[in-house]
Amino acid sequence: AIPVICLDGPTASGKGTVAAALAQQLGYAFLDSGALYRITALAATRAGLALDTSGEAAIAALAQGLDIRFEGERVWLAGEDITTAIRTEEAGINASHVSSLPAVRTALVALQHSFRQLPGLVADGRDMGTVIFPDATLKVFLTASAQIRAQRRYDQLLAKGDSANMSDLLDDLQARDARDMSRSVAPLQPAQDALLLDSTSCTAAQAVQQVLGWWQQ
Ligand code: C5P
Repeated sequence: AIPVICLDGPTASGKGTVAAALAQQLGYAFLDSGALYRITALAATRAGLALDTSGEAAIAALAQGLDIRFEGERVWLAGEDITTAIRTEEAGINASHVSSLPAVRTALVALQHSFRQLPGLVADGRDMGTVIFPDATLKVFLTASAQIRAQRRYDQLLAKGDSANMSDLLDDLQARDARDMSRSVAPLQPAQDALLLDSTSCTAAQAVQQVLGWWQQ
């Protein structure tokens, strides 16, 4: 089977940075599954759909037919560069709403599987190890305290030139964690065979080294 490294964990745990660095170092493909939910939410909002069960079937149909292209750091939807549009705090919150709809999750399964190509894949998300790639070679569950995750998100937003408020960010992040952990399908939790990595007091580079160490064992 084509090797897969899964990196799952809560929002702003550093998964994205660590997963992208790993993919680069190993020469593997990279799946940012959160981006797929962000894109779906954006497309649904633009189509005027309600991001709840009343829009579920229509959003799932949209998700199934998404015309997406990833090109390095950039993401295109039907020929439009939506890289920055899907990275706002609001886009993340909307993604978390559509991701709790079972039909939407099912609609995105085949697309996620299509990223599994030689020589290998690094997959970043919430349910990579539990649902999408249960036979993955290595599963890592990355955590960090809510405080440090809010701080990282704050630093990221400021670096982009956006304004941010620490206590709002912490509230949003905790609400998103609660929603991701309590949903009925694919709730956020470590796979039984996942290795836990707490990045509260380590840098992204150290986390990458730890995962590479596990990978080479
Ligand atoms: O990781 P990111 O912040 O981009 O994900 C946005 C939202 O998409 C998450 O809050 C989560 O609700 C959802 N998501 C998911 N399953 C994944 C990846 C993301 O439910 N595999």
